[in-house]
Amino acid sequence: MLPVIALVGRPNVGKSTLFNAMTRSRDALVADMPGVTRDRHYGVCRTGTRPFVVVDTGGLTEVEEGIDALTAQQVRFAIEEANVLVFVVDARDGLLPQDRTILAELRRSGKPIIAAVNKTDGLDLQNAMAEFAVFGIANTLPLAAAHNRGTEDLVAATERLL
Ligand code: GDP
Ligand code: MG
Repeated sequence: MLPVIALVGRPNVGKSTLFNAMTRSRDALVADMPGVTRDRHYGVCRTGTRPFVVVDTGGLTEVEEGIDALTAQQVRFAIEEANVLVFVVDARDGLLPQDRTILAELRRSGKPIIAAVNKTDGLDLQNAMAEFAVFGIANTLPLAAAHNRGTEDLVAATERLL
């Protein structure tokens, strides 16, 4: 069985864009795996030295009542089956309360976490990254998934944690 990584974060931070960037190799298999719902998308990343499965989750949104229960459940299942969690945040929006909520949930799993700070294109990189340093996540990497920038480093960091 291939190792699994899950892309988790608020809606609109760029998870699906990152998923596409990571799985776009020519022989990437993008298909639902047997026994799971269609709410999560699976692909294989083959751009590193070893292949791994990437799960694109629906966004974890608000706390408690605001949360879409089904989506949240799907995200939790993805977290459960993942070996590494990629926590995607948006450098343009900055750090929002929902990001903290999601991170708290990820941390409860005890699994290794990489923070991917997306949409850094056109921003001052040091400023953009500084805001997310409060997470205290050693693996916090800048990304511009839409421009395929930073994905190689992210794949390398992921592999080190698998
Ligand atoms: P998801 O809801 O987390 O899956 O986010 P999407 O992948 O659907 O992206 C949400 C929006 O952000 C889309 O309009 C993307 O084009 C945009 N986006 C994604 N990655 C980047 C990026 O690296 N830079 C910029 N500027 N926009 C991005
Ligand atoms: Mg998406």
